[in-house]
Amino acid sequence: MDRRNIVVIIALCILGTSCGPAAEPKERMYAEVESKLRGVAIPLAKPKAGDWLAKHKEDGQSFADYLRAQPVRKSRKQATIYICLLGDFTPEQKKVLETTQKYLEIFYQVPVKVHKKMELVDVPARAQRVHPTWGGDQLLSTYVLDEVLKPDRPDDALAYLAFTSSDLYPDPTWNFVFGQASLRERTGVWSIHRNGDPAKGEKAYQLCLRRTLHTASHETGHILTIQHCTAFDCNMNGVNSQDEGDRKPLTMCPVCLRKVCWNLQVEPAKYLGELESFCRENKLTAEADWYRDAAAVLKN
Ligand SMILES: [Zn+2]
Ligand SMILES: [Zn+2]
Repeated sequence: MDRRNIVVIIALCILGTSCGPAAEPKERMYAEVESKLRGVAIPLAKPKAGDWLAKHKEDGQSFADYLRAQPVRKSRKQATIYICLLGDFTPEQKKVLETTQKYLEIFYQVPVKVHKKMELVDVPARAQRVHPTWGGDQLLSTYVLDEVLKPDRPDDALAYLAFTSSDLYPDPTWNFVFGQASLRERTGVWSIHRNGDPAKGEKAYQLCLRRTLHTASHETGHILTIQHCTAFDCNMNGVNSQDEGDRKPLTMCPVCLRKVCWNLQVEPAKYLGELESFCRENKLTAEADWYRDAAAVLKN
């Protein structure tokens, strides 16, 4: 039940972070995101049996670690997230995906554009299987990464992401994956197959939306070189199962939020206000309240 990430830290470009007096107030502003919000963050509890951290030893990533990793950053040359839609979607799944595109636009402060639509009949037989035990149709995620996205990635892509409603498997020894990312190539593929059927009423729609937003923001965070978080309850915590994912917040913890704000060079309170509006419009009330309260703490 692992979400597999091919974690390859790449040294693309480091834009000056703190060179000269003009940069200093900005750096202080980002440091305050971490220092001021620590008081309202929830330290990560001991993992339960079967949770990600019970199975994987991870050390976390401080902001200093993040800078040392020379992260992938939004820049003038890499300022768009492109989407590839793979296969068919129900009207409700389409609505979830369109809402997720809007969320990514706000979360990562770049336009999100559909670049390609691909039909399942165009996927070769060698990249599909029927699961040997339960018999469901599945697509090979590495085929999507290596043969669909990689050769077609626009030069100005901050990330190029494929969404599919088909179930995914990364190699024949695995049962399935929720998604997979190649940080070296800034590509990722994610399935909403296991997020529930959003056509089954309001509750099921909200659950599917929340799961899809969680995966999309988490995995794009990895593409920006943000590692799994081990400090607080956080969007960037590793998750080992749908149940564990459902227990995780959509919001970033103070440390990961500092990384995102610094990476995107946003004004933090304004950024949190935009996320609050999105969450309010989409009935994510607890998240909207969290963003409202966090913005108020930053302004104090
Ligand atoms: Zn992850
Ligand atoms: Zn975090």
